[in-house]
Amino acid sequence: MEVQTRFFGRGESSTPPCPCGYFNHPEKECICPPGMVQKYLSKISGPLLDRIDLHVEVTPVNFTELASDRLAEKSELIRDRVIKAREVQATRFGSKPDLHANAQMSPQMVRDICKITPAGQALLKKAMEKLGLSARAYDRILKVSRTIADLACSEEIELEHLAEAINFRSLDREGWAG
Ligand SMILES: [Zn+2]
Repeated sequence: MEVQTRFFGRGESSTPPCPCGYFNHPEKECICPPGMVQKYLSKISGPLLDRIDLHVEVTPVNFTELASDRLAEKSELIRDRVIKAREVQATRFGSKPDLHANAQMSPQMVRDICKITPAGQALLKKAMEKLGLSARAYDRILKVSRTIADLACSEEIELEHLAEAINFRSLDREGWAG
């Protein structure tokens, strides 16, 4: 089984984290020489990562874990939450044809709709500086945090929503795998 870093965006793609495929694997050892993982990941260019909404690192799950019926959130509940969030967005963009979802907002709409608190602004500023994020990534974080707030039935974008959205930029982090 391979460790995969999956990219969810328009369409979804995934890539193994290193040439041998075992970087970050919970049980197997990555045999790539030092520096190789970074070199390999740097081939996924910044502008490409900018266009991807959510960076999610996925480690393999072993069979006993998969087979155990531990309590996970029921998919019907998740479905209901997604439907509700979609309704909120449909209402938000009701007057605008061809606009149905937060992801489609123009930069100006992001400014108008994705308002954040001063504490949120401070957090985002810090993340921008630390991760060296582009303006496009900035807008993307705001859109994703708006969606996370919608899923939580929250009118405001709270600090936790913003923090979660920033977390989805994990591959922008400098020194990733370093
Ligand atoms: Zn490796």
